[in-house]
Amino acid sequence: MSRDIPLNTVPCLRRKAAAFQQLVMSQNQNDNGAPPSPAPSSPRSFPQYAVDTEIVTTEGNDQYRSSSVPIYQTATFKQESLSNMGEYDYTRSGNPTRSHLERHLAKIMHAGRALAVSSGMTALDVIARLLQPGEEVIAGDDLYGGSNRLLKYLRVNQGIIVHHIDTTDVDAVKKTVNSKTRMVLLESPTNPLIKICDIEAVATATHEAVPECLVVVDNTMMSPMNMRPLDLGADITYESGTKFLCGHHDLMAGVLAVKDLVLGERLFQVINASGCGLSPFDSWLLLRGIKTLAVRFEKQQNNAERIAAFLKSHNFEVYYPGLESHPGYNVHTKQSLGPGAVLSFRTHDLPLSERIVESTKLWGISVSFGCVNSLISLPCKMSHASIDPKERAERDFPEDLIRLCVGIENPQDLIDDLLAAMVKAGVEMKK
Ligand SMILES: *Cc1c(COP(=O)(O)O)cnc(C)c1O
Repeated sequence: MSRDIPLNTVPCLRRKAAAFQQLVMSQNQNDNGAPPSPAPSSPRSFPQYAVDTEIVTTEGNDQYRSSSVPIYQTATFKQESLSNMGEYDYTRSGNPTRSHLERHLAKIMHAGRALAVSSGMTALDVIARLLQPGEEVIAGDDLYGGSNRLLKYLRVNQGIIVHHIDTTDVDAVKKTVNSKTRMVLLESPTNPLIKICDIEAVATATHEAVPECLVVVDNTMMSPMNMRPLDLGADITYESGTKFLCGHHDLMAGVLAVKDLVLGERLFQVINASGCGLSPFDSWLLLRGIKTLAVRFEKQQNNAERIAAFLKSHNFEVYYPGLESHPGYNVHTKQSLGPGAVLSFRTHDLPLSERIVESTKLWGISVSFGCVNSLISLPCKMSHASIDPKERAERDFPEDLIRLCVGIENPQDLIDDLLAAMVKAGVEMKK
């Protein structure tokens, strides 16, 4: 696997890196001349090392050289004088702990600017506030349930026109894009059907048709460990920090990232105006989680690969982009460094699926993913219950689909537990 190769040793990425660094440097010169942050922060610069090194490497200028970034648990900041205002005044607008997190994220997401907000859905809400009534959005037909709900709200209450189409089909996107399209929202892989969308092809086609249209990628399923949508031509990437970035199911957060600093400033204005920036304590907790992202993610992904092979060997219909039999295997391998830790499979029998889910011991019945613990769910009754049954049927959503979100436990224990649950549920297992 190529996932351990430092990015700057790959020639085309090295060229991209150099060009991007120049862009950021030239944009930084236009900064408003505010004094340097008194707080520790990672300098905003292109990463120099492989991502597993970058995520644990932070640079700061804390006066006591603290190894962990301090939590600035304060709502206000006193000013030196009326003529000498500091960088921070009110935590809704900015806080040193959050700034540190955002600069660290910008580095690992290959962004010019990253922003941290109160949840993944908030991230999409902030982006959606760039839209005006009458403008159009193209989104996938296997979208995350919460995103689906938010888009529906915008359609019903804010006059935004939303087209749900199969975004894995580039031609379908080309046919739907028109002069009113202002946002194309992509997920790859989708969840839980694990459909793969060619982000670079969709971004290129969209920008050719409507240059000002924003291509937005929800990268929650891959995390920056596996994919950096900004390098594939996306204008905005966001993800739920609640999942892999945090990794412990003890915090809710969302992150947004852009290359273009003007766009970044527009997003910041929405966050500042609405007050949804991540709190100092949660910013600190998220930074702490990110430090172990690489070890967690690698183990989760390795475990998932073994479990996918186990399910396949028992002739289940398995949805996982690490299997060569997956129709999106080639596209996924081109744009991502690995298959991730979420997979799903079918039994073609809803009561049987329900019994399997309820018979596991190690696998917790829970929504969400990216946690150190393994989780099992029946999406039609859980994460996707907010999509009404008629709509699910129209989109051919398989009601018997079981989703597995793989944690860091011993893989054999996970397989044994699944096997026992299947036997208990009455699956005829191949010997
Ligand atoms: C969880 C999730 C979200 C929403 O994030 P929250 O932090 O729960 O608000 C968005 N997209 C995907 C793909 C998710 O899995």
